[in-house]
Amino acid sequence: MFENLSEKLERSLKLLKGEGKITELNIAETLKDVRRALLDADVNYKTAKTFVDNVKDKAMGQNVLNAVKPGQMMIKIVHDELTELMGGATTDINIKNNPSIILIAGLQGSGKTTFTGKLANLLKTKRGKNPLLIAGDVYRPAAINQLQVLGQQVGVTVYTEEGSKDPVSIAKNGIKMAKDKGHDLIIIDTAGRLAIDEQMMDEIAAVKKAVNPNEILFVVDSMTGQDAVNTAKEFNDRLDFDGVVLTKLDGDTRGGAALSIRSVVNKPIKFVGTGEKLDALDVFHPSRMADRILGMGDIVSLVERAQEQFDAEEARKLQKKIAKNQFSFNDFLSQIQQIKKMGNLKDLAGMIPGMGKMMKDIDIDDNAFKSVEAIIYAMTPAERETPELINGSRRKRIADGSGTSIQEVNRLLKQFEDTRKMMKMMTGAGGKNMARMMGN
Ligand code: GDP
Repeated sequence: MFENLSEKLERSLKLLKGEGKITELNIAETLKDVRRALLDADVNYKTAKTFVDNVKDKAMGQNVLNAVKPGQMMIKIVHDELTELMGGATTDINIKNNPSIILIAGLQGSGKTTFTGKLANLLKTKRGKNPLLIAGDVYRPAAINQLQVLGQQVGVTVYTEEGSKDPVSIAKNGIKMAKDKGHDLIIIDTAGRLAIDEQMMDEIAAVKKAVNPNEILFVVDSMTGQDAVNTAKEFNDRLDFDGVVLTKLDGDTRGGAALSIRSVVNKPIKFVGTGEKLDALDVFHPSRMADRILGMGDIVSLVERAQEQFDAEEARKLQKKIAKNQFSFNDFLSQIQQIKKMGNLKDLAGMIPGMGKMMKDIDIDDNAFKSVEAIIYAMTPAERETPELINGSRRKRIADGSGTSIQEVNRLLKQFEDTRKMMKMMTGAGGKNMARMMGN
């Protein structure tokens, strides 16, 4: 995400690298470039101008500290300004009531129904909620079915009314059922249209009035750039929503919507969608997003994801096995599966400082592990536990069984052997450090 903007900002900030101190003259070119980068990212003209004026004021107002180079200082100023532009602090959703009611609004195709499923999943697994989903998109029959499928995947109840065309009564009946059954959270999906139209706005305003939601989230496709900002403004004028959900950020190389929405509608972005899968939803942190835009990575999010996926108990067991040189292909396989659970590989690479840019043109996807997994699956249980058993004829059988080649099998065995050796070394002399790293 945001690759184009990142690249241009980094290039413009590099201009200052050789300079001894900031002067009006030497930052002029940088500021011009920053402004151009923002305009190319589809940030609106006024926002880009204010941004650059603010950066300039801050840069000129700084007493140039000897310890900090102008290039670094400008990066910090631009970083802080980007954070501010995207809303400053992280803003949570309001789910304190019992039940809390969340109303979802947006145009058709923006990703509303998908988001409804993702949000239910997130609030159920991470915040211990027991959500009920209400299918209020009465015009797109497929939407009801889509929500039912999502509900099944997440393991939450979906309230639907076959044949009804009255979203207000569906919402009211759904809420009644949620209260009867003790759900502490209700998420209402509503109908969208391809473009803004009065009837849709009237309808959703009527649902808002009837159910008095605790939180209204407006969902918008980030790839639509300035259109997203304009749509947000119209929905906000009518609904006075509480927060924005930017979907399809995984496909957004420019970032204009993320950078402009806040300054235009003065409502925070609360979530971002980063893929089609159910777990491809992140809480939006302006400062971390600024890190990513400036190619500084997002280590905090990476560590958080790793913590969610890696089980401390498992890590301790694994460490013991490594110490005894019993690390096997089964352990290897389960490590691969844990990494895969952390999300899309390219997305993960983008969180490591400097890596996002390096990986920009490299096509890494979740298939990267496929042949490795296939080879391990083609091994017998004994071979997985004791790889030393794998002689020449076994290698051929494994290659045939996995649809790979003997060379690929050999390469994996060699890599595995090297990994084992390295692990042994680390648990020997440097073992104490590793144990500390793993939380022991
Ligand atoms: P609705 O009409 O607003 O309910 O939109 P849908 O939820 O049906 O989404 C429209 C399309 O966008 C579907 O194909 C979704 O899989 C896709 N989609 C939704 N969110 C994301 C996202 O964050 N990333 C990507 N890549 N696709 C998404």
